[in-house]
Amino acid sequence: MHIGVPRESDPGQRLVAATPQTVEKLVALGYDVVVETGAGADASIPDDGYVAAGATIGDTDAVWGCDVVVKVDAPTVSEVARMHADATIVARMSPDDDPALVEAMRAAGVIALNLNSVPRISRAQALDVLSTMSNVSGYRGIIEAAEAYAGMFGGQVTAAGSTPPARVFVIGAGVAGLAALGAAGSLGATVRAYDVRSDVAEQIESMGATYVRVDAAAQESADGYASELSDEQEAATQRVYAAESAAADVVVTTALIRGKAPITITAEMVAAMRPGSVIVDLAASGGGNCELTVPGEKIVTENGVTIIGYTDLPGRMPKHTSQLYGTNIVNLMKLLTPGKDGQVVLDLDDVVQRGITVTRAGELLWPPPPVQVS
Ligand code: NAD
Repeated sequence: MHIGVPRESDPGQRLVAATPQTVEKLVALGYDVVVETGAGADASIPDDGYVAAGATIGDTDAVWGCDVVVKVDAPTVSEVARMHADATIVARMSPDDDPALVEAMRAAGVIALNLNSVPRISRAQALDVLSTMSNVSGYRGIIEAAEAYAGMFGGQVTAAGSTPPARVFVIGAGVAGLAALGAAGSLGATVRAYDVRSDVAEQIESMGATYVRVDAAAQESADGYASELSDEQEAATQRVYAAESAAADVVVTTALIRGKAPITITAEMVAAMRPGSVIVDLAASGGGNCELTVPGEKIVTENGVTIIGYTDLPGRMPKHTSQLYGTNIVNLMKLLTPGKDGQVVLDLDDVVQRGITVTRAGELLWPPPPVQVS
């Protein structure tokens, strides 16, 4: 079979779904890979890099005519119309928010696989693009904070005197939060972190940061996501957020509950922060954890606090993010190619494959049945 790698149609999307390293792995699985002219240009990957890895370069029709199309963003309805029946499209999709696309994929008879819905089980970690994006966002969020912060992250001792390290407070120590606290620590900041799941305290401390304790029980539901807080827990955590943010130079918020962002930093807390301090809202895509966040923007408040609400942090490091994303796709293709013979075999009895399947052969298979975490 042929795998097509299109150039992303959104001009703001700098990522690409395959790199020369991942093309080699797809070829080793028995596939012929066709990359659209210029697909990797924004990720600093020239066409000849793909050719050296064993791909051919084709135009838009050649790529969309392939048996499998791998993408970063969901396809458009007109892109789906270019695919042949029984072809497979692999991309990050939001089926609940885009019924017209789901219907187009169903009607076209394509197999639609949604990388945003990989079940959170250990076995599926290697193809979990949400973890990849969170990881990269956590790192890049700190780089953006370091640029915006009025001081230095690492404490300095110079002939002209010394300056203290920046104090960084991270809310939510999931994949993004841990990446952020690791990056902040490596730049020399003093890092403190809080998560409603108190079992992450050990992980936080193993990375040299301090776990901030709140007198409230941890909550995690059966599917591995944090659940909403009770009123009493809410009041206790709000007091901690107020005290920590007032003392911090940089606050990084990452709290998401099923893609939605609870408010953790209120306007009042921002008003109590020092001029020159920074908030990086890594939950901006879900509306933001800070009451004043403007998703997609960097703003400065009247009291001089910078609030970074960028939603394109992974795309700001397109080379390595594409490499990690492309590897997630290789790991999916390994699962879909049991014979290593370049033939996709979709096994709907496998919870991982079932969890990502939106449509197949004219059938709507969304939403998938819930999966319990292992
Ligand atoms: P997430 O993006 O859903 O949430 C980010 C973090 O914020 C979580 O740690 C959550 O507990 C925390 N949080 C939520 N509300 C909060 C609040 N009000 N205050 C403070 N913290 C709050 O989580 P994530 O980063 O995707 O992952 C969380 C955990 O799941 C990690 O331990 C990760 O390793 C695990 N995980 C496992 C798999 C897998 O096994 N395939 C995949 C992804 C994540």
